[in-house]
Amino acid sequence: MHFGLTEEQQMIVDTVRTFVEKEIIPHEQAVEKSGEVPRELGQEIAQKVKDLGFFAPNLPTEFGGGGLNQLEFTLLERELGRASMALSVFFGRPSGILVACDEEQRERYLLPAIRGEKFDALAMTEPGAGSDVRGMSCTAKPDGDDWILNGTKHFISHADIADFIIVFVATGEESTPRGPKKKISCFLVDKGIPGFEVRDGYNSVSHRGYHNCILNFDNCRLPKAQMLGEVHKGFELANDWLYATRLTVATMCVGRSRRALELVLPYTAERKQFGQQISKFQGVSFKLADMITDIDAADLLTLSAAWRVDQGLPSNREIASAKLFASETLARVTDEAIQIYGGMGLMSDLPLERLWRDSRVERIWEGTSEIQRHIISRELLRPLGG
Ligand SMILES: Cc1cc2nc3c(=O)[nH]c(=O)nc-3n(C[C@H](O)[C@H](O)[C@H](O)COP(=O)(O)OP(=O)(O)OC[C@H]3O[C@@H](n4cnc5c(N)ncnc54)[C@H](O)[C@@H]3O)c2cc1C
Repeated sequence: MHFGLTEEQQMIVDTVRTFVEKEIIPHEQAVEKSGEVPRELGQEIAQKVKDLGFFAPNLPTEFGGGGLNQLEFTLLERELGRASMALSVFFGRPSGILVACDEEQRERYLLPAIRGEKFDALAMTEPGAGSDVRGMSCTAKPDGDDWILNGTKHFISHADIADFIIVFVATGEESTPRGPKKKISCFLVDKGIPGFEVRDGYNSVSHRGYHNCILNFDNCRLPKAQMLGEVHKGFELANDWLYATRLTVATMCVGRSRRALELVLPYTAERKQFGQQISKFQGVSFKLADMITDIDAADLLTLSAAWRVDQGLPSNREIASAKLFASETLARVTDEAIQIYGGMGLMSDLPLERLWRDSRVERIWEGTSEIQRHIISRELLRPLGG
């Protein structure tokens, strides 16, 4: 077993960390205050990432992507996780599902996404269907050679800045031992077409500066060429291509947790109360010990799950454990970091209160903590018939 990084992996980590510190972190406070990333700033970050040769690092080299394997990509995203998500999104990482494009779709979606000319967003969640994806009610019905979409999606990240949306809708229903479930298909939907509206979403306590949106489909007509993959196979498509996206959450939580610890650690040695450094109080120093132990454990769980993906080993439970533990670690670490800082920790002069607020969503999106526990326990119990 080898725990160290190769020279190339270390280069990825160092390059991205330097980029984050130089090109992203200096803009965080302004974005947090205004609730917006100025268009030019987003474009400037994307251009610098392209110049660095790191744009679309997750996609295959044969299409012009960076061709990183899962472990390398997880290391890269761990560094990006240190920064504000509103800004780090411009470090272009198009959805891996675009590799499922057919030849004609490749020219219109995959390649422009890899070149940074088109930006994608992905829409599954609906007001009535969150964790229960196959309970969705947004539909596509065939009409000659076309499909007609109707319904609403919400919480769709980055749909405001996207050029097209990867949308999952119900195209039928089947009976299963657990009751009727929707058959799902996936479509590539360009912004601006008739019958498709993107509206502002809700104000979220986490990740100010990046927006979620509401999508409305009102008899939106799509030619069959817009279907990604096969009809009724959208769920399988998502499982194949979005299998490891929970690792993105896990590894970003690890990066952000380490940043919180790095902010608070020197403070414990500087701050004096009752005539001594607060680090001398066991009530404080033991918190630091718990923080680093949790962070290292979350890091190892995440990297080993990524390694399993690269080896082609079953990884569903391991990815769920990583997402669960890393997102809950981030919550504990940011909360304790504020406790150690005292009142100052809550003030927006420091990034800690933002890291604490931002941490809240990580236990909800990409499958809630309860859903991760469900996946983990189901895998343990299934072989026993439990
Ligand atoms: C800021 C933000 C951005 C998002 N971005 C996107 C996006 O870009 N695209 C997209 O498609 N979605 C996106 N989402 C949606 C996100 O994935 C969902 O919020 C998440 O899947 C949970 O769904 P829900 O909020 O409807 O909660 P619900 O599914 O209604 O869950 C409510 C509660 O019930 C619990 N629960 C539900 N089912 C079970 C079960 N079987 N066992 C135990 N407990 C259960 C949940 O854990 C939770 O505590 C985003 C959400 C947020 C908040």
